[in-house]
Order: sequence, then structure tokens, then C-alpha cells
Amino acid sequence: MIEIRDKKLCSGCTACASICPVNCISMERDEEGFLYPVVDMSRCIKCGLCEKICPILNRQVDTKHKPRAYALVHKDLDIRMNSSSGGAFSLLADYVLDKGGVVFGASFDEKFNVCHTYIENKEDLQKLRASKYVQSDMRDSFKKAKELLDSGRLVLFTGTACQIGGLKSYLRKDYDNLITQDLICHGVPSPLVWEKYLEYRYSKAHAKIQEISFRDKHLGWLLFSMRMKFANNKTYRKSHITDPMFIMFLFNKCLRPCCYACSFKTITRQCDITLADFWGVNSVCRKMNDGKGVSLVLIHTKKGEEIFNAIKDKANYLEVPFDKAVAHNEMYTKSVSEKKVREKFFKDLSRLPFSKMIRKYGRLI
Ligand SMILES: Cc1cc2nc3c(=O)[nH]c(=O)nc-3n(C[C@H](O)[C@H](O)[C@H](O)COP(=O)(O)OP(=O)(O)OC[C@H]3O[C@@H](n4cnc5c(N)ncnc54)[C@H](O)[C@@H]3O)c2cc1C
Repeated sequence: MIEIRDKKLCSGCTACASICPVNCISMERDEEGFLYPVVDMSRCIKCGLCEKICPILNRQVDTKHKPRAYALVHKDLDIRMNSSSGGAFSLLADYVLDKGGVVFGASFDEKFNVCHTYIENKEDLQKLRASKYVQSDMRDSFKKAKELLDSGRLVLFTGTACQIGGLKSYLRKDYDNLITQDLICHGVPSPLVWEKYLEYRYSKAHAKIQEISFRDKHLGWLLFSMRMKFANNKTYRKSHITDPMFIMFLFNKCLRPCCYACSFKTITRQCDITLADFWGVNSVCRKMNDGKGVSLVLIHTKKGEEIFNAIKDKANYLEVPFDKAVAHNEMYTKSVSEKKVREKFFKDLSRLPFSKMIRKYGRLI
């Protein structure tokens, strides 16, 4: 049965907990705030399924098949302004919802925890739109997706590459009615750090948070900002180079251990389509950059190509050579480096008030 001896070898995808035939694996938080599987040995029947389907322990070798690459912007400016990059995700989601399908992705719950959920109509699409830079709690998404797939529904499952890897391992077979989309991923910060940051913002504003965007574009796409709206009509807005949560995230102080040695950052992905910000767009197709966001779309499969062909008329797009497309986005194949400060960061997190954490770790020095 699954036993986490090295935290770098667990992405918390939930495949093991979801497959367990006697439901004896629960996902429990460690002291850093990340979820790991914990086996109730008194109920375990030692079937070994949890180990057999772990996407990291059973990782297959990358074939290095290069995907087709596109720069893309959604034609609807409103959607693009509310998306992280060029709004490519919304095009995929609309395609599936128009066919009566279901879309899984990361959303905020009522307390602004980040968790996976699914939507069935376009009115709910805003919940999944835009990046939330915190590890998303998968809850029972894998089981629900399987149920929907087995009933014949079209499913678009979106998330980080480790979440897609986990889903594929858990399903153990290919489904024609499953479309998968992952992301180029810097790494995922701790949900506990995020919770503490929310409490801090709440204490500063003396009012409840009503809305959050990690990708406010009032200073432009490149200088994206954290925006929080409060019940007292106040708004907090800081760019990613001054907001403390972004500094802790982007300087790799509070990421999940496996993000420093990610097994999923391969050229060939397990999904149909990978989405990202088209960083470096100016050196490939400057004309497409109006400062409001350009998506990088990487197509890995025939299915991905068919979908791209079906949605492309709703976008402005340009095919670009793969090597140039990812030249400024090394996170596609490279894990971030682990900072020495990480260990100290999490020790301090358990003993210091968050205002002190911000002074110590949330500033550019
Ligand atoms: C944690 C994280 C790190 C990222 N790092 C990079 C990077 O280093 N370089 C880069 O170019 N792009 C990165 N991205 C991707 C980028 O932020 C955009 O998500 C991508 O460009 C798609 O944007 P969009 O405009 O097409 O759609 P959007 O509407 O902005 O994207 C929505 C999509 O993001 C998914 N999503 C949002 N939050 C999460 C989450 N916490 N976990 C899993 N899925 C989530 C939704 O399910 C949906 O599929 C990262 C995304 C996340 C979530």
C-alpha cells in the first residue's frame, strides 16, 4: 500500500485515495498545509491498487514528440480581460458546454479555498476561469469524472499536469468522450499559506472578501496583479512584484515539495492540449500582443487538433514553431529550484504572525 517516504514523490493528486476499493485512504494535511494520502491500516485489504496506479511511481518515459504550437487570443475582449492569458480555456470550455458536456477545473469555494469542481452551463464558467495560484484540492473530482464518463457525457478535465496524470492513471483506460487540458505550471503554493494570507488581508481591510483575482490586468498582462474586493467597497490591488503572496510563490518559498522535482514537465504530455501564457510573444509574433494577454496553446493529440479546428474561428491565432513558442517559458520542461529558505519559511509559518512572515519573506530584497 501507498506510503509516503519522500514527499517529493507525491503530488497529492488523489488517484490512490479515489481507487481504493474499501475507501481506507484519506487525504490529510501535513504541517505545511499540503494534502497527502494516509492509509487506515485496520481497513486496508492490501490489494496494492493504490501503488499500481500512482502516476509518479508508474511514470512512463517521455517520447519527446513535439506538439503543434499556437499563439491565440479570444475575440471577446471581456473574456480575455477576465482570463489569465488569452482566454483559450474559455474557448475549450464553451466548445464542451455547447455539446452538453461537463467541465472540471479549479474554483474558489465560499471561503476562497481553491478546489476542483465541475460546471454544466456557461453561467458558471466564470468560476473556473482564471488561474488561482494555490494547490487545488481535488476532493472527489476523479470519481465524479469517471461516473460522468461512464454515463456517456462529454467531459473536459483541466488542471495541472500532475492532476491530469493522476486522473489518467485512476481511469485506467482511454475514453473517447474525455478531453484533457493541462497547463505550464510554475508550481503550486501551500493552501495553508494562502489561508493565512486571506486572514491577514481580512484583518487589514476589516471587511469580508467578496472577490479575488490573481490576474488583474489594470497594469497590463505582463504586470499582472492580485486584486481583492471587500464588502466595505475597498479594493486591494498590488502587482506580482509587490504583492507578498506572489513574492512567496514566484520566489519558490512555499511550493509543494514535488514541484521542485516535477515528474510531469515533459515535452510530450498526457493531455490533449496544454495552455500557458505566451511569454516571449514579442520575439515570435509581436503584432498579437496588445498588452491584454496572449495564450500559448500546445496541441498534443489528434483529438486536441480536432477541437482546436472547431474553436479557432472564435479567436485570432497564429501557428508558431514549437521551439520558439516555449523558448521564454522554461517552466514547460524545468522544475523550479528549491531555495534553502523554504525549510526556514515553514518553520516560521507555524510560530510567527503572518504580518512578520510578510516582512521576512514577502518583500523583494
Ligand atoms: C499554479 C499554476 C501555475 C502556472 N504557472 C505558469 C507558468 O509558469 N507559465 C505559464 O506560462 N503559465 C502558467 N500557468 C498557466 C496560466 O496561468 C494560465 O492558466 C494559462 O495561460 C491559461 O490561461 P487562459 O487565459 O487560457 O485561461 P484561464 O481562464 O485563465 O485559465 C483557467 C484554467 O486554469 C485552471 N486553473 C486555475 N487555477 C488552477 C489551480 N490552482 N490548479 C489547477 N488548475 C487551475 C482552470 O481549471 C482552467 O483550466 C499556471 C497556472 C497555474 C494554475
